[in-house]
Parts: sequence; C-alpha cells; structure tokens
Amino acid sequence: MTARRPIVPFLRVPADGEPYLAGHRCTACGAIFLGPRLACGRCMARGSFEEVPLSRTGTLWVYSIVHQSSPGVPVPYVAAIVDLPEGVSVRCSLVDVAPDPAALSFGMPVEMTTAVSQQDRDGNDVVAFFFRPAQGGA
Ligand SMILES: [Zn+2]
Repeated sequence: MTARRPIVPFLRVPADGEPYLAGHRCTACGAIFLGPRLACGRCMARGSFEEVPLSRTGTLWVYSIVHQSSPGVPVPYVAAIVDLPEGVSVRCSLVDVAPDPAALSFGMPVEMTTAVSQQDRDGNDVVAFFFRPAQGGA
C-alpha cells in the first residue's frame, strides 16, 4: 500500500480532496505566512498560529526563464513567484506554458496544480506542486 507524500512540508495532499498549500495565520493580527513561524513578522507576537488552507489561485508576480540548472533538470523552465490573495508569496515553477516572455505577463491569473514527481524509497508517490495559467478564464 503506497501513499502520496508532499514534496514540501507546507503542501497538503488530503486523500479525499484537492491538494492545497497550508498557511499559518497569526491569531493576534491575522497575518498569514507560508510554513510555520515562531513569531509574527508583522506584529511580533510569539507562538500562536493556526493553520489555514491557502487559495489555489493567485497572480504571477515575477518570473525568470531558467536556461541552466542542475544536471538532470530539464531546461528551459519558468521559475516564478506567485502572489496569493492571502498576502502570501510562493516560489514555484510555472508549467503548461511556453518558456517565452510572449506567453507570460506580470499579474496574469494562475492556479495551482500538482503532479507526482518521483517515488520515494518506500514506493510512495512524491507529489510536487506547480502553478499554471488559470484555465477558468478569470
Ligand atoms: Zn501577528
């Protein structure tokens, strides 16, 4: 019996729903961060965070077309930072789009997608997340 494991700790892959990124919300001021924090970067409160699911859609803030990478990593690809409505920025790869500035624009709507990137030593599927141009015609 194999399972689906997220490639990063802030990706959630529920068995009965859509994968999503997990944010941590400061219970003092409401600021949301990606991944756990010891203290809030906005209000400096320490300790009290609650996990919240982040939106699967956002906008492309900035990108770079990568032409050289580590051995085994196909190039070119689009490295991007996506802004989510919760005020969180996410580093990711942009997929399902040509690695061409003509196909990319700052502020374009994007949505999260996931794919099995590899198997771990126990045979579990390792799930990675990406963003792609929004299909819904936002
Ligand atoms: Zn705070």
